[in-house]
Amino acid sequence: MLNLTLREVSVALREGNISPTELCRKCLNRIKQTEHLNAYITVTEEPALKQAQEAETRLLQGALRGPLDGVPFAVKDNFSTKNIKTTCASRMLKDYTPPYNATVVQRLLDQGAVLLGKTNMDEFAMGSGSTDGVFGPVKNPWSYAAPYCERTGAVPDTDWVITGGSSGGSAAAVASFTSYLALGSDTGGSTRNPGALCGVVALKPTYGLLSRHGLIPLVNSFDVPGILTRTASDAAIVLGILQGLDTRDSTTVPPPPSPTELQEDFDVKKLSVGIPKEFHATGLSEETVAQWSRVADMFEKAGARVEQVSLPHSQYSIACYHVLCSAEVASNMARFDGLEYGHRSQVDSSTEAMYATTRHEGFNDVVRGRILSGNYFLLKQNYQHYFVKAQRVRRLIADDFKRVFSSGFDVLLTPTTLSDAARYSDFMQEDNRTRSSQDDVFTTPANMAGLPAVSVPTALSRRGLPIGLQLIGPAFQDKKLLCVTRWIEQRVGFPFISDFEESNRQDLSFTLNLAGGQR
Ligand code: GLN
Repeated sequence: MLNLTLREVSVALREGNISPTELCRKCLNRIKQTEHLNAYITVTEEPALKQAQEAETRLLQGALRGPLDGVPFAVKDNFSTKNIKTTCASRMLKDYTPPYNATVVQRLLDQGAVLLGKTNMDEFAMGSGSTDGVFGPVKNPWSYAAPYCERTGAVPDTDWVITGGSSGGSAAAVASFTSYLALGSDTGGSTRNPGALCGVVALKPTYGLLSRHGLIPLVNSFDVPGILTRTASDAAIVLGILQGLDTRDSTTVPPPPSPTELQEDFDVKKLSVGIPKEFHATGLSEETVAQWSRVADMFEKAGARVEQVSLPHSQYSIACYHVLCSAEVASNMARFDGLEYGHRSQVDSSTEAMYATTRHEGFNDVVRGRILSGNYFLLKQNYQHYFVKAQRVRRLIADDFKRVFSSGFDVLLTPTTLSDAARYSDFMQEDNRTRSSQDDVFTTPANMAGLPAVSVPTALSRRGLPIGLQLIGPAFQDKKLLCVTRWIEQRVGFPFISDFEESNRQDLSFTLNLAGGQR
């Protein structure tokens, strides 16, 4: 059951092949078996079983609420969850329990979905590795699978690779079959990056399509809730449920009218695919380039128009992101002062001293670094030079996309990350700033422009690790983007991790070579 897709498990529940409580127990059990991955910060066993029981009652009464009723899910620990700790993987919020649910969480619960727990991440979603949280790094489940271990001779508990970030716990949860879907957040790539490195489908919806209410903000003007699933059709189901106006988030808009199911009659011959020439970035691995060309060729052979396009300003997107992100972080983090939320220092010689030590003790150095640089960019004498200029560049980046899409292109095909996942020990050699600036080069432009983008796994690298490609589309064309994603998915034959035996942990043996997921 665990290696079914969301759509399949939903049918299995409906047809009575498994009961919601049995399914929930299986997932909880699997979470225990995969504890070494450190994917979850909090597991909500008791409430989950209670919710599953309620779904079971509805099932018996023939009153299921929809495709997600009884289906387990996981949520990144920066979404507020009522009466459940929401830590942002930070010392600052280690013991913080919100009094309400984020809108997207509430919508899933309203559909009868069963919340398994809160997933691990980089502190306050700042990072690209899921290595910078107070609960320790997340390990990529593919580091324990046969292809990586056999091809590299790696010892899993020593040579494990990162999940990417910052939603690494959510990506690992979906990839390791503890959950059928997980929520991540995406400010500069945090859903797509770990999605690519863990081999799952990762959707960053159009800005404004999903409510941010209850998502603890990083950069309000970039943040969107992200959706991680095993297939594009699964992502479409979840999107259909989450999207739409929320009176608690004034940036939300009514969704464009489109059916929940992905169109079956999608015609690839009518598709125009743009290949942005500036995305041949330094550091891009040969294997990723090969995948990029392979999928572009697939489109061309199938009759799509594939042409090079130019996004000249996207090369400034990392610098621009850094200025705008730090500026918004400086302002967003001001609320954590020891008075209202979370950690409060014991130092009380003066109010100022209490503020300062609370913030020093509560935040890691990545967060403190961004607060400092953000305040610097916002100084009266720097404001025009940095903040205003970065906003102007942001507009130019968005205009590049607009021009390309209005000239007839439907989607852009790019890599998601520069290469497959790095070994933890190698990744930690570099500081967070350098890492982010390298890793987010393909993902930040879509956040600058508020566009939908999705990462789809296409192959295993020579090291036996997933490689993902990214599709970017015009605003509110999220469904179409998922149709194109499914088209790729059906042709590349990317394996599920359950297709391989875990080589070094016999006690965790997966059900092998079962039907896999119907894609
Ligand atoms: N890696 C980027 C950062 O560190 C993006 C993070 C995100 O999307 N939350 O800010």
